[in-house]
Amino acid sequence: MAHTVKIPVPALNKEITVSTGLFINNEFVPSVDSSEVIQCFNPATEEIIASVVAGSSKDIDVAVAAARKAFKTSWGKNVTGWERSRLINKLADLIERDAQELAELETLNNGKPVAIARDFDIGDSIQCLRYYAGWADKITGQTIEVDNISKMAFTRHEPIGVCGQIIPWNYPINMWAWKVAPALAVGCTIVMKPSELTPLTALKLSELVIEAGFPPGVINTVPSLGSVGGAALSAHPDVDKIAFTGSTLTGRKIMEAAAKSNLKKVSLELGGKSPQLIFESADLQQAAAWSALGICYNTGQDCTAGSRIYVQDTVYDKFIDVLVSTVKETVIGNGFDQKTGGGPLVSKAQFDRVWGYIDAGKAEGAKVVLGGERRNTKGFFVDPTIFTDVNSDMKIVKEEIFGPVLSIGRFKTEEEAVALANNTTYGLGAGLHSTDASQCMRVSGLLEAGTVWVNSYNLLSNNVPFGGKKQSGIGRELGSYALEEYTSVKAVHWNIGEKLQWPL
Ligand code: NAP
Ligand code: MG
Repeated sequence: MAHTVKIPVPALNKEITVSTGLFINNEFVPSVDSSEVIQCFNPATEEIIASVVAGSSKDIDVAVAAARKAFKTSWGKNVTGWERSRLINKLADLIERDAQELAELETLNNGKPVAIARDFDIGDSIQCLRYYAGWADKITGQTIEVDNISKMAFTRHEPIGVCGQIIPWNYPINMWAWKVAPALAVGCTIVMKPSELTPLTALKLSELVIEAGFPPGVINTVPSLGSVGGAALSAHPDVDKIAFTGSTLTGRKIMEAAAKSNLKKVSLELGGKSPQLIFESADLQQAAAWSALGICYNTGQDCTAGSRIYVQDTVYDKFIDVLVSTVKETVIGNGFDQKTGGGPLVSKAQFDRVWGYIDAGKAEGAKVVLGGERRNTKGFFVDPTIFTDVNSDMKIVKEEIFGPVLSIGRFKTEEEAVALANNTTYGLGAGLHSTDASQCMRVSGLLEAGTVWVNSYNLLSNNVPFGGKKQSGIGRELGSYALEEYTSVKAVHWNIGEKLQWPL
């Protein structure tokens, strides 16, 4: 029997109960061979809040076997689209019912403000599940005329099979929903590995999977260290696909493991060093507001963080003044405090990493115009920090920081702006601010990124695809495009009249 833990929420004078085992076949079970645990921290207080079972590679084998069995019997091609739709909608309803508690748990383990977790992360997750519930009975192939008289063909978009899903710690519930929803809609089964830093909400969601009525084995959750469970899933011979969100470094390892094992399909949503271009015609107040959102949202722990801004020289000084006063309004604090707009960074490792970049920026000669000073308090808090006078060789301009640290440079011409924006190995997001419609069209076409925002930033929608170019990833999430990641197209050639003359 696995255990439950009661996690105190001091700010609200209550406790949240979470099952701490591995979730396999709709039961919370202990590891088959490991006594390792994962300790979960509250990044605002640095206190341990819970320990959960850390799955081993043998546990991954058990979970994959459960997912395979469900795929062959109670899910996959054995269930109608409308039944899958009904269950996914039920799960969305239960998440909506429990949104407040799920948000509090997310805040305890990840640090983000409760209201943001509830209204944005969870609100979007509910919508995502409902969006894909709508697709479940609309998966269609094509009928293809081959020669009009004696042969025709058709395609079936079949569920690819057992999917390993490896998610990060910056949006634990939201990334869970983005991965689970399309996979379930087309009939795949799942072995989910949450990040070791934030496994609690995935376990809480697993309780709702049972309540929604999914057959055992359809969704399994194995908290585990990345180098153990994540690596085992990626190398597993009976996993048909890995969907991953996280760093480029780990994405590379996953692709290698897939190549060396069974050539499973891989989709990767990786990091970025996303640029925003501010042209002289832009509404500078609005451009500053979107830019602030781009670097402050989720305390900069965002794959699309707009961490490089280039401003046309004619409006450079004015824009920086407006931006600094806009960003100053951001309140970084404990996620249970209602005034808080951004929480702490997720862990000590991320905190040290981000400070490493801020120190490097100063050492390399960039000028700090906001932030850059440490607090003397508990918790992994980093205030928004803005650097100007940067050049393209600086670490803070080249590398993904994953914290609220922004570099600002300047340009004279549109051509120069586009060259600066594209001068990166990444290609996830890009933004441009201009009131010249031709310029918006021209530049959005030239930016090398999976998503371009014109006069906005960071807004996503469940029916619009999302993913990266260059080293920001492979494949697309969201929209109808995500369905392609979870289906395998089968062509059926049908002979309705041709007689084979043999020998040829
Ligand atoms: P990470 O290693 O890429 O973690 C993402 C997920 O991959 C986690 O579930 C992790 O598990 C798992 N993982 C780790 N090693 C693995 C392996 N060998 N095989 C399979 N899965 C593995 O990221 P991180 O080390 O936590 O963060 C480092 C940096 O990555 C950040 O500073 C940021 O730049 C980037 N990042 C990007 C995103 C994004 O949204 N694109 C999200 C997170 C991080 P464990 O957590 O259990 O190790
Ligand atoms: Mg790790």
